[in-house]
Amino acid sequence: MLIDTRYSLVSRVFQNRGTVVDVDGVPVGGDEVVVMAGPCSVENEQMLLTTARFVAAHGARILRGGAFKPRTSPYSFQGLGEEALRMLAGARDETGLKIVSEVVSPDDVELVARYADMLQVGTRNMQNIALLKEVALARRPVLLKRGMSSTVEEWLLAAEHILVEGNPDVVLCERGIRTFEHATRFTLDLAAVALVRRLSHLPVVVDPSHATGRRDLVPPMSLAAVAAGAHGLILEVHPRPDQALSDGAQSLDFDGFAGLMAELRARRTPQPLTT
Ligand code: PEP
Ligand code: MN
Repeated sequence: MLIDTRYSLVSRVFQNRGTVVDVDGVPVGGDEVVVMAGPCSVENEQMLLTTARFVAAHGARILRGGAFKPRTSPYSFQGLGEEALRMLAGARDETGLKIVSEVVSPDDVELVARYADMLQVGTRNMQNIALLKEVALARRPVLLKRGMSSTVEEWLLAAEHILVEGNPDVVLCERGIRTFEHATRFTLDLAAVALVRRLSHLPVVVDPSHATGRRDLVPPMSLAAVAAGAHGLILEVHPRPDQALSDGAQSLDFDGFAGLMAELRARRTPQPLTT
């Protein structure tokens, strides 16, 4: 077969059928819109457990929570590291939620993979090739966030790096890109979601929290993401957003999360592209 794209393994030319990534029993890429929710950073056991119980009760399937935080400023909270991973594993045991957590260094991949069901590669690391190779070898599903200044082609080529190393379980995540617009934290590129659904067989999810930076924009952009074809959402939720150690302004409180989940259920329509 002649493949005329720079990426091949991730392309619909290579595989027309949509890939469903199995996150230890939670299928991402099928008919269900999978919600991953939780705090930006794991701050302590109590807030994590309270959040995990709440989001699980309202339909989330995967718990997010940063243990290693790649912060823009070196003076910001950097995360609790392995202690946070242990807390995430405890929350999984109690709630049944699966765990996604970011890994920022190739040296930490084995450690994070020991606790997490899915490894997150963040926007600042999308083109960290050494990290992509290491997460490919870890034999865990990977949530690959789009680089904030990366084109769709670069994003798909980053995914290609993981597939070519033998790990087919990649979920793409649109989380906003840098543009001239500063009214929102980033610019949520939903056209890229609809486009990537056509170019690639990999599942695509959307992070409206980081994309907008504003909790009031998270519900409308979540609904828009699903309308554009997203297979899931990753949402920041905090019991007291005003006291969050990171990203409070974009974190939903519990009422906001429950309201959004109810709206998502009410408006659920079939995916525009079911393959
Ligand atoms: C996060 O999900 O907490 C995060 C840091 O995301 P991003 O890499 O998209 O900024
Ligand atoms: Mn965050």
